[in-house]
Amino acid sequence: MKICRFDDDRLGLVEGDEVFDMSATLDGVALIKPWPMPQEDWLIANLARLRDELRRAPKGKKHRSADVKFLSPIANPGKIIGAPVNYMSHLAEANADKEISVGVTVKTIDHYGLFLKANSSLVGASEGIALGLTSRRNDHEGELVAVIGREGRNIPEADALEYVAGYCTGLDMTVRGVEERSLRKSLDSYTVLGPWLTTADEVGDPSDLMIHLEVNGEVRQHCSTSHLIFGVKKLIAYASGFYSLKPGDVIMTGTPAGVGPVVTGDRISLAIDKLGTMQVAVR
Ligand code: MN
Repeated sequence: MKICRFDDDRLGLVEGDEVFDMSATLDGVALIKPWPMPQEDWLIANLARLRDELRRAPKGKKHRSADVKFLSPIANPGKIIGAPVNYMSHLAEANADKEISVGVTVKTIDHYGLFLKANSSLVGASEGIALGLTSRRNDHEGELVAVIGREGRNIPEADALEYVAGYCTGLDMTVRGVEERSLRKSLDSYTVLGPWLTTADEVGDPSDLMIHLEVNGEVRQHCSTSHLIFGVKKLIAYASGFYSLKPGDVIMTGTPAGVGPVVTGDRISLAIDKLGTMQVAVR
């Protein structure tokens, strides 16, 4: 099942190049008190019930997907987790390019662990990227994104995929420089998720999905997730050894080689097998 959030916070079901407005099904799902909010995404926490409703309910108004504005499929993640230098090919290019390595020898995820991005950096594909700190280089990083479906701590690698609600494509936008990653990757609009959430059952094994990123039609990144140093299972096991994972937590799994600068007016196209293609404007 492909579930999206679109236009004015509508809930959509994506089928081919059509989006059906299924917002009415939300009326049947448990209400929550307004405060304090749990540290999780309400839609993902209720996804099992919601999926039954979406299957049963009559289809709502039909839109062409080209006509809707895609918002982030996860509206309120408790946290956005990033995986630094999780492909050997990206390690090689980072150390070969002084504008990326900024005077230090870059190591891999084994050394750095994980980082967190500010939730305020999150947008959907239609909102685009508002470049900040334009005196510096701003790079695209196309990534497979796993969305956690249920709470877990110290999750064994063997069970890890049972904790995934679904997947989407993601851009981990980055200002190059010497500051901590969490700061340089947390500008407003520097986390782009979308175009929709594809539920885990439709994806199956995420360990060999092709990531393909173009800027203005020029291929920049083209690599399979089979080259991840920490694959999805290991990322979940590793992360949950440090902190509880909760419904709606986002894990950006890292970027392969081919990162590069974008400037105002560029159009990024990011496609991942089984997950669709996200078109994102840079402004
Ligand atoms: Mn990244």
